[in-house]
Amino acid sequence: MSAIAPVLDRIDENLDQSLERLFGLLRVKSISTDPAFAPDCRKAAEWLVADLKTIGFDASVRDTPGHPMVVAHHDGPEGSPHVLFYGHYDVQPVDPLNLWEDDPFDPKIKEMAPGIKVITGRGSSDDKGQLMLFVEACRAWKEVHGGLPCKITLLFEGEEESGSPSLKPFLEANAQELKADFAMVCDTGMWDRETPAICVGLRGLVGEEVIVHAANRDLHSGEYGGAAANPVRILAKVLADIHDDNGRVTIAGFYDGVEETPAQVLQSWEALGETAENFLGEVGLAIPAGEKGRSVLELTWARPTAEFNGIIGGYTGKGFKTVIAAEASAKVSFRLVHQQNPDKIRAAFRDFVRARIPADCSVEFHEHGGSPAIQLSYDSPFLGKAKDALSDEWPKQTVMLAMGGSIPIVGDFQNFLGMESLLVGFALPDDRIHSPNEKYDLTSFHKGQRSWARILHALTRS
Ligand SMILES: [Zn+2]
Repeated sequence: MSAIAPVLDRIDENLDQSLERLFGLLRVKSISTDPAFAPDCRKAAEWLVADLKTIGFDASVRDTPGHPMVVAHHDGPEGSPHVLFYGHYDVQPVDPLNLWEDDPFDPKIKEMAPGIKVITGRGSSDDKGQLMLFVEACRAWKEVHGGLPCKITLLFEGEEESGSPSLKPFLEANAQELKADFAMVCDTGMWDRETPAICVGLRGLVGEEVIVHAANRDLHSGEYGGAAANPVRILAKVLADIHDDNGRVTIAGFYDGVEETPAQVLQSWEALGETAENFLGEVGLAIPAGEKGRSVLELTWARPTAEFNGIIGGYTGKGFKTVIAAEASAKVSFRLVHQQNPDKIRAAFRDFVRARIPADCSVEFHEHGGSPAIQLSYDSPFLGKAKDALSDEWPKQTVMLAMGGSIPIVGDFQNFLGMESLLVGFALPDDRIHSPNEKYDLTSFHKGQRSWARILHALTRS
């Protein structure tokens, strides 16, 4: 008999008790950003440690200069992989409280729409609900089989919602203990109620500020206009040159390291039915502005960008002033994909700008951060197994998607522990995380537990 069937049955049987446990954790007001709630953050960590001990984890509260970490270990069979599972127990503040329909720290089950039951409360989705799925999957597995299918380490932090100041030092100081074969990160979402998702790509970012200097002071545009260089015109021309008529970035070497997305992945994105009219319609637009011939999903998930986030120069106040400014500036950001190198992109951008500055003018640059993209390989075996495991649980096939933004922990695991991350979560776009009336679908909570059990089974079955 398969090892997984009785575990899934046990998860079904345990559902009411697992909900009670989640409610217990949701009642703890672990708001990390507000020092008044520091004792509650510790209480949440202690709550988790006590609960994990009941499953047989060697669990402890680990102090940091900020809120504590929870670290827990459980052995697995000889030769099985070692998995690190990451989540966070802290939550966002709840104000404005008057917009909540229910007490954010008194969770309950509500019928949100016919047939759709949800768990209400701060942290129900982000991230207490999501992390308890994995804990409950472990519990059911242990109850049925007396052990876990592989060696598992859990890392739950309490500062994710306030910038994770203690995380990197903690990873560095405890690298030996935390290093595993791969990581699982749970604070992502499904594509929709029926379609599970694995996030395989996170775009990187390079931020630059460019300041073009021309005359040594602001000039009268009647006296000097036509003779003196105008930095606004120079800057505007530089920025306009960055894209060609087909939406491609013209900076030399910009596409080095950018890979074409496999045809079958593009087809699966196509099958999601997201149109430009839909995607852009919500923000009052209709025509994709990026590289021609690519869908909006490909443009936001798998292609790099150059965007101008701000531009300043000359007189911008009320009325009118006939001035030629001494300087003009812009803030420019690049979203990176695949193997694009942030340092090379920054240098290539600066060369591109310098080449367009007249000899009697000058340019200065300020750096505003840089991080590479993260891309799992589409043919990684553990990705394929996890994908199939999720497809077995949900009505629709798993989609491998990417995210336009970033999840810093994934880069930290890569950099400090040399581990790739599997990003799977069961949040829905309407969960209102960080907002009043946060919720988590009961289906996410139930089938999410079953999904993690299936993933553990798929990844450890020989
Ligand atoms: Zn959050």
